[in-house]
Amino acid sequence: MKKITIAIDGFSSCGKSTMAKDLAREVGYIHIDSGAMYRAVTLYAMEHGMIEGSVIDVPRLEADMANIRITFELNEVTKLPETYLNGVNVESRIRTMEVSERVSLIAELGFVRQAMVALQQAMGEQKGIVMDGRDIGTTVFPNAELKIFVTASAEVRAERRYKELQEKGEHADYEQILQNVKQRDYIDRHREVSPLRRANDALLLDNTHLTREQQDAWLKEQFLLRVKE
Ligand code: C5P
Repeated sequence: MKKITIAIDGFSSCGKSTMAKDLAREVGYIHIDSGAMYRAVTLYAMEHGMIEGSVIDVPRLEADMANIRITFELNEVTKLPETYLNGVNVESRIRTMEVSERVSLIAELGFVRQAMVALQQAMGEQKGIVMDGRDIGTTVFPNAELKIFVTASAEVRAERRYKELQEKGEHADYEQILQNVKQRDYIDRHREVSPLRRANDALLLDNTHLTREQQDAWLKEQFLLRVKE
């Protein structure tokens, strides 16, 4: 079977990473969560005092980009890749509300996108990869054999994120999460560099009323169609 590249884009918290992860595990591909990379840069900027409220010290961050090393390593127990920032596991620290509230501002910066896209393209050189994000089918892998654009209502997405945080025992406020989801949608769609949009050749998947199993089955079907072509 030939190896292909799979690009999954869409709005925040619509289950892109979960479906990408499930498919990658089932077909033996590598899964890269590109959002984790923007989150790691955000965490770096926060921990180095480069973000005050919603104001970013852009020149300092730009000068420091060469010192930000993002890698993924497989967790031997869960068999899932986890995000490392300069050799330190930051998988749970990049998922906090504080990071979620600032990440879209960092992801708007042209020099950050340039660095992340270069890294993502290098990771996908050998194909056999499922990458999820906002600009994977449009900018990172415009020639991907399978492109999916996922969407769901903002309320359903906020509800899923709320449950996820609750299950982890973290503080969760539904209204705050809903506002964050809507705000990120707006910034992601309206930014100048690589705004979130559906690639012309991407399949549209609205999963508002789909279960995880139904979604996984649909995705596997699309995958099999592409690898047999
Ligand atoms: O996917 P996730 O919600 O974790 O992504 C966090 C943020 O990173 C998004 O809200 C978006 O602003 C940014 N992002 C991006 N391009 C990507 C992936 C994520 O701009 N390819």
